[in-house]
Amino acid sequence: MKVLVINCGSSSIKYQLLDPDTESVLVSGLVERIGEPRGELINKAYPGTDREAVTTLEQPIPDHDAGMRLVVDLITDPEKGVISHKGEIDAIGHRVVHGGERFSAPVVVDEDVVEYIESCIPLAPLHNPGHVAGIRVAMELFPDAPQVTVFDTAFHQTIPPHAYMYALPYELYEELRIRRYGFHGTSHKYVAGKLAECLDRPLSELNLITVHLGNGGSITAVEKGRSVDTTMGLTPLEGLVMGTRSGDVDPAICAFLARNKGMSIEEIDTMLNKESGLKGLCGMNDMRDIHAAIAEGDERAEIALGVQTYRNRKYIGAFMAVLGCVDAIVFTAGIGENDDVVRRESLKGLECLGVNIDEKANAHRAKEPMRISAVDSRVAVWVIPTNEELAIARETRDILNK
Ligand code: ADP
Repeated sequence: MKVLVINCGSSSIKYQLLDPDTESVLVSGLVERIGEPRGELINKAYPGTDREAVTTLEQPIPDHDAGMRLVVDLITDPEKGVISHKGEIDAIGHRVVHGGERFSAPVVVDEDVVEYIESCIPLAPLHNPGHVAGIRVAMELFPDAPQVTVFDTAFHQTIPPHAYMYALPYELYEELRIRRYGFHGTSHKYVAGKLAECLDRPLSELNLITVHLGNGGSITAVEKGRSVDTTMGLTPLEGLVMGTRSGDVDPAICAFLARNKGMSIEEIDTMLNKESGLKGLCGMNDMRDIHAAIAEGDERAEIALGVQTYRNRKYIGAFMAVLGCVDAIVFTAGIGENDDVVRRESLKGLECLGVNIDEKANAHRAKEPMRISAVDSRVAVWVIPTNEELAIARETRDILNK
């Protein structure tokens, strides 16, 4: 089976064509700067194999429609392509960030579904418009392939009201559905499932804390395989300190800035989402640059690392209290998979709660799941590479096989 997984941002299209059964990836790529004078496309055929062939294009790409057509031309190109015609694609899986309260599982797309995703645009103004554009273009370009949407929010629909309600006037929930939704659900679910496989135990028996640390970051409390709380909220801004996002702040800061600095709502929103987090604290949002700066004696970089890892630790501790008994903590995504210092600092001082890292194991880098806790650690600690594309392709296959 060949599934094309598409993740459309407001000005980008990330794509991968893969077989969910064999896990082999035929092609992966990224279209960026859609709508800007100079668009870019990087296409990798047979990535990670000895046949890998990279094609790059630079040209104006006015909209998602033009971007998708370029992708289809490339993957069906007689010389550089990986399939002979687009009819070979069996299904399309779309990543959608916000599925509101309606979707707790993937769904086969029809007009009603697209309209509902559109109605969630106020909840995810940076993400859902790009998804809608991508779905509409794909429906036109691949009229015979079933289209499935897989939602970042779906895994978290099992969170109970005491964890998803904000203590605001109740009418705001009734009128505008203001509540905690949570994100990165596809990744949290994937690494939880993978860990159960590694331990050879049913996921429905496990209590886990899954820690996804990439450009964006979130931590989820997984009780007997189901999400019961997570750090992100109505939007992906709440919770952890991220690359450019503040995570938790005193909400009164917004009114304070409006009154004392004359900032508009738009300016405050941009500041919290794009100019805060690690970047706000030290001017850098890539953890590799921050480590390099710390090695050169940059104090603000050190503060940024400290603020980020302290917040991680605080939430891991909070979720240990939420779950009561924890079988394992799992780190994943760019920072979680690669950064032993962040992992160590995020778990510092948790020994009396049963968390003991094996320093040697933690220093390892692996492309496969690895256990990094000491043999006598009551709570196991693992690093599990996430694979959201594979998870989306599998979910797409599974719902179509039902
Ligand atoms: P996204 O949220 O965009 O999917 P990723 O999961 O790819 O992000 O994570 C990207 C981040 O991971 C980078 O910004 C960088 O901070 C961090 N990262 C990637 N590789 C390393 C590494 N070797 N060491 C430390 N941090 C890393």
